[in-house]
Amino acid sequence: MDCLFCKIASGDIPAKKVFEDEVAIAIHDINPQAPVHLLVLPRKHIASLAHMHSPDEDRTLLGNLLASVNRIAAEQLLIHGYRIVINTGSDGGQTVNHLHFHLLGGRGMEWPPG
Ligand code: AMP
Ligand code: ZN
Repeated sequence: MDCLFCKIASGDIPAKKVFEDEVAIAIHDINPQAPVHLLVLPRKHIASLAHMHSPDEDRTLLGNLLASVNRIAAEQLLIHGYRIVINTGSDGGQTVNHLHFHLLGGRGMEWPPG
């Protein structure tokens, strides 16, 4: 499958990994928008949050991903908080069609987002 994040997850394309386990990896975003900007993505290809396949399996996966995000945020010392963003579809600003969580921190965030 011609998917950038599948290739990064399998190691075919290099990336700066900060975390990996059997279900997910976390990498530094190549174009950081905050002092800490990581992408947490499942190894399994799911095109977006709107493309969940088998409901039970993917719900469990999402729960595990969120737990990993929180652990990674602690490891990154984001003690004052952080923001998780899941861009979904074209209106959501998604540019890579493999589900991923942006983990942003290290500065105060604004609301509303652009
Ligand atoms: P989204 O727009 O939500 O689909 O986010 C895709 C993110 O992937 C963007 O923030 C990009 O900067 C980032 N990105 C694109 N290519 C790479 C890459 N090779 N390594 C790390 N991050 C990337
Ligand atoms: Zn993929």
